[in-house]
Amino acid sequence: MPKLHRAAPSHAITRGERAILIDCGEGAMQQLMRAGIDFRRIHKIILTHHHFDHIGSLFTCFGINMMLQRTQPITIYGPVGTRRIVEGLAKACDVPNAIGFGLKGQSFPHPRDFVQVEEITPGDCFAIDDIEISCCENTHYRSEAEFSTDGPISLSLRFNAPDRSIVFTGDTGPCAKVAEFAKGAQLLVGEMMVAERVIAQLQSKNPHMSAERVALMGKHLHEHHLSPEDLGDLAAHAGVDHVVAVHIPLDRINSDSAPEYVNRIAQRFSGTITIADDLDQF
Ligand SMILES: [Zn+2]
Repeated sequence: MPKLHRAAPSHAITRGERAILIDCGEGAMQQLMRAGIDFRRIHKIILTHHHFDHIGSLFTCFGINMMLQRTQPITIYGPVGTRRIVEGLAKACDVPNAIGFGLKGQSFPHPRDFVQVEEITPGDCFAIDDIEISCCENTHYRSEAEFSTDGPISLSLRFNAPDRSIVFTGDTGPCAKVAEFAKGAQLLVGEMMVAERVIAQLQSKNPHMSAERVALMGKHLHEHHLSPEDLGDLAAHAGVDHVVAVHIPLDRINSDSAPEYVNRIAQRFSGTITIADDLDQF
């Protein structure tokens, strides 16, 4: 289960010759190559939500498969809105599709010919090969009190394979529903946000940022993401064996270089803890 990219999170689950991509952040196609996974093996993509750092490489995915004459279908699963995004990107492929390689008698397949969309909602359950996949809403966009009302949703995903269960939190704030949903999984791949360091980093790069914007960013980072302690609490409540922290927008942090983050998670969770690096496999 390689984690592909630290800042723009994507993960791949490989099963024989086939592979499932979870989110498709910027650089995912290159990171797949670095992880030794031919992107042609990806036959399913599951999007947790539609923030740009989780979908940025879909256009590249369509384009390279088009240029390489893909005919095998790719199914893209995701919350409502996925179809609009895919249709828009497919439309944007009209121009390069019409150009082809500029050779007479040669043409590309169009992404409309090989890309299918399945929009999913919390509680849905579906199978890919021998893996059963389920999803639940999380608090990345809104509080649990607002669940089941209109509005965009962000999902956490669970993969029950015959040999083990893996839960991906996607982006989320603290969420009792997700802790319940993750119960009994062996591996929890959870986002971790060190809000105070991210804000300090933002301020040093944007010294003129208004106090109001800094406060808003702080609110978003604290309420819609997980601190190391929140992630430890989630792992403990779910009773998983191993938690892997991902989606860390800070450079040079892994379990070896920044043991303080392992220690912060360990204050709440007694299982195995890893701060993931790009291309790690579990
Ligand atoms: Zn997000």
